[in-house]
Amino acid sequence: MKEPIEDLRAYFATHGEEDNYREARREALRRWNERERYCSRCGAQLPPIAIPDDATVTPAERKCPACGTVHFPRIEPCVIIRIEKEGKILLAKHIQRNTNIYACIAGFIEAGESAEHAVIREIREETGLEVRDIRYFGSQSWPFPDQLMLAYTAQYAGGEIRLQKDELSEVGWFSTDDLPLHPRPGSISWRLIHEA
Ligand SMILES: [Zn+2]
Repeated sequence: MKEPIEDLRAYFATHGEEDNYREARREALRRWNERERYCSRCGAQLPPIAIPDDATVTPAERKCPACGTVHFPRIEPCVIIRIEKEGKILLAKHIQRNTNIYACIAGFIEAGESAEHAVIREIREETGLEVRDIRYFGSQSWPFPDQLMLAYTAQYAGGEIRLQKDELSEVGWFSTDDLPLHPRPGSISWRLIHEA
């Protein structure tokens, strides 16, 4: 079995989509083995899945030896949004990341929500703004540990910026030819900023 890649974010930044898919899959299964060691139904120990070098061909399921329940890796869907207004895009500094990087607004989809509902709610909660014309852009597996990032573009439709202080420290409208420090290539975040 291949060793895990030490800095997977750096690997993503320097490799193409297919390589990144392979490594994201391998990492997701590796973390699944690490994090889920017991059956959530009966509590018996769950044997780890074997991870081949090309894990894209591996069916990801683990059967509990005691109760027979078949387990699948958990995926946490998130939305990430490029909000546009008069040729500029909204980028924000996220408090949790504790860096100078400005990124698009993002958040987890909550139970019962569609991705579009989550887009509207996240933007409203974090910035106080309203959006319209929500359009799907693309997606990326982000196995840190188990996110599926769904990227959207949206047009500013109204409201004044009102920051959610426990999430964001700064937010601003930026022209794409004059960007602050932002996520590196290899992330859907970078593609949303540069290619959407
Ligand atoms: Zn079980």
